[in-house]
Amino acid sequence: MPAPSSQPADVSASGNDSHDIYDVIVVGASFAGLSFASVAAARGLRVLVLERDAEVGSVVRTTGVLFSDVLDVLDVPARYLMNSVRRVRIQTPDQKPIEIAAKAFRFYMADVPGMLRWMAGEATARGATIRCGSPFLGAVRSADGLMRVSIGSPSASEGGGAASRAPASDVYARFLIGADGAKSTVAQSMGLDQNTHFLAGAEWLVENVELSRETFYLVMDHKLAPGYCVWLAPHGDIVALGVAGHMREFKPSASLKVAQTVFADVADLSNMRVIERKGGIIPTGGRLRKVYRDDERGRALLLGDAAGLCGAATGGGIYPALISGRLAGQAVSNEVLNGTKGAVKNYLRDFAQAGRMGHYLQIEDWIRWVLDRMGSNADVAMLYGLFGSPEGLRVLQQTLLETPIISMDSSFFGVVRNLLGKHPSIYGAAFRTALRRVVARA
Ligand SMILES: Cc1cc2nc3c(=O)[nH]c(=O)nc-3n(C[C@H](O)[C@H](O)[C@H](O)COP(=O)(O)OP(=O)(O)OC[C@H]3O[C@@H](n4cnc5c(N)ncnc54)[C@H](O)[C@@H]3O)c2cc1C
Repeated sequence: MPAPSSQPADVSASGNDSHDIYDVIVVGASFAGLSFASVAAARGLRVLVLERDAEVGSVVRTTGVLFSDVLDVLDVPARYLMNSVRRVRIQTPDQKPIEIAAKAFRFYMADVPGMLRWMAGEATARGATIRCGSPFLGAVRSADGLMRVSIGSPSASEGGGAASRAPASDVYARFLIGADGAKSTVAQSMGLDQNTHFLAGAEWLVENVELSRETFYLVMDHKLAPGYCVWLAPHGDIVALGVAGHMREFKPSASLKVAQTVFADVADLSNMRVIERKGGIIPTGGRLRKVYRDDERGRALLLGDAAGLCGAATGGGIYPALISGRLAGQAVSNEVLNGTKGAVKNYLRDFAQAGRMGHYLQIEDWIRWVLDRMGSNADVAMLYGLFGSPEGLRVLQQTLLETPIISMDSSFFGVVRNLLGKHPSIYGAAFRTALRRVVARA
């Protein structure tokens, strides 16, 4: 167990109780916050994690699909990988489905509450303290350089009124981490960049449905899921039925009701029983620029969704959240304990190279650009037609099932350009459609 670091020399000047002073306060006990806490505590930082929910993993807002790449950065115990998936079937209204499959498993459906509780246990074993039912309300930097962080009562996190938002207590730290998701209160409080573009997602966990345990089923239908898709996926012994699309352009729960029929050829959903409903938002505007400050207003860094580190097209944010948490844990330890000037800035500069994050996020941004330009099911059918060709299927197969994220480089753009080049009519139509929409929006 690492020894807690020595307290800053000027602590007594604040008149604070030394029990309430940490090296780092992390807001959010999810993928980014817990991976940060684990690494930072292992390096010897005194870490406090604040979580608004009553327990770690008690409110799940994600489907929990993990790319196999997650295993490069976290040795997730097999008991939390419920289904191993190697087949994807995609369909649009009135067209033949396309299917890609591989021998090796590419995705895992995670038991998210179990995995987060396990991550919390790892962070605690390394010396981090986790306080649940503790919503972050705001922070200011005091004259002595410490961050004064206000924590609300548990009722404040349940949407209580102004009275219940009164701070219940203050704690102090030398550094503040915002790992509090797509709508970050830390970003707001610290005047850092905030996400502005989102997809809305909703998912039902349902029982009484028979489904292949190794296949994801996707339907691209502009009316049900503008800008994304509807999915049916194995979830242990039950099934997840979900939808995501542009916020305010559709009603997720209404789409889910209709979606029961669009999978009629792969599963009988007529007797399904909904046992859990979840929903959330996915940031799609790309990596935010101003995610760090160290000045009189504050000393704070954003991670994971709070920093816009989420795949803008697929909504895959767990892998970037884990990488950002782990690497920032190293950087903040160096800056706070070793006094290494610029360690956090170097982390921000080098993040794009870590696990090819830069290429991965760029490719996702690019696909998001295309998806955002699909204005009708006719546009969707055109895109789908492109990937339904033998060359298109090979590109899909390579991209989704065979190429690890670390090998996704600029040659991917070349592959897609070649594919488009072989279909000049589609290329031309896609280009004209995109142009029409850009001009219409200008
Ligand atoms: C419907 C849906 C499905 C998704 N499916 C997938 C998927 O299959 N695979 C994938 O890779 N990604 C998926 N994503 C995206 C993925 O869930 C996120 O990218 C990922 O969870 C980001 O992790 P994070 O730690 O940055 O933030 P989050 O997981 O959002 O965690 C933020 C934490 O901060 C806490 N918090 C927030 N505000 C406060 C506060 N004021 N005080 C204290 N605590 C606070 C929250 O309670 C939460 O625990 C999905 C997202 C949605 C909405």
